[in-house]
Amino acid sequence: MESQNVIQVQSLTKKFGDFTAVDAISFEVKKGEIFGFLGANGAGKTTAMKMLIGISMPTSGEAIVAGFDVYKNRDNIKRNIGYMSQKFALYDDLTVKENITFFGGIYGLKKNQIKEKTTQLINDLALQEVANKLVGSLPLGWKQKIAFSVALLHNPKIVFLDEPTGGVDPITRRQFWEMIYQTANTGTTIFVTTHYMDEAEYCNRVSIMVNGKIEALDTPKKLKEKYNATNMNDVFLKLARSPSLTLPKGNGTHTEN
Ligand code: ATP
Repeated sequence: MESQNVIQVQSLTKKFGDFTAVDAISFEVKKGEIFGFLGANGAGKTTAMKMLIGISMPTSGEAIVAGFDVYKNRDNIKRNIGYMSQKFALYDDLTVKENITFFGGIYGLKKNQIKEKTTQLINDLALQEVANKLVGSLPLGWKQKIAFSVALLHNPKIVFLDEPTGGVDPITRRQFWEMIYQTANTGTTIFVTTHYMDEAEYCNRVSIMVNGKIEALDTPKKLKEKYNATNMNDVFLKLARSPSLTLPKGNGTHTEN
């Protein structure tokens, strides 16, 4: 693998019975890159991401994440990545400080490191007034910003963000993306799924999945040129809703991960 590639995927496939949810996808992501992973509902994004973060075994294909093999070194992958999603980020019934301490512990930080990181995070996000409040009482946008910082506590090489800004207002989404840029500038790679096409424009490169396959992958600028589109929404609609493509055939039975 090239040294600058922190994710290297070759023909990665996941089948559930006869149904192929992820169909031989191949791509690489570079260090410090903001990589957008797009696709309509059911396209296979979450299934692909689960294989990359080491919680689901591929059916076939290859993937090296943060230098580790998804078949053999899944524990090492987990230690070297951060993860947050719209659905799960922080515990609502713990305070901001308690969440930081809890996740710091899970990520293997020492007591003094947790203390140091807590102070830093609270200062960076200007959370002094809410540090001892339950996370559940905070607006969603705040929660997601804190969750993103928490996902970075252990200085991971890659952060996987699964629809991190779903339901968040546009101003807070913009602030969230400022944080993403700052993080990428320090060399941390961002792998992000989103349904917001304005956010797709902020990515360095974007992949668009349709029915388990990657149908397009390039910079937003080149994708717009190629598909003769004025914005990423047009590109997405041309690809994801193409009449020549059939709907996913999942039987809706979720059996194993
Ligand atoms: P969304 O944006 O809605 O999260 P997605 O692109 O992440 O969609 P996946 O959740 O990866 O899509 O699902 C891809 C397909 O695989 C769907 O048809 C889904 O029903 C199917 N699928 C996912 N997990 C399982 C499972 N454990 N068992 C059977 N089918 C599954």
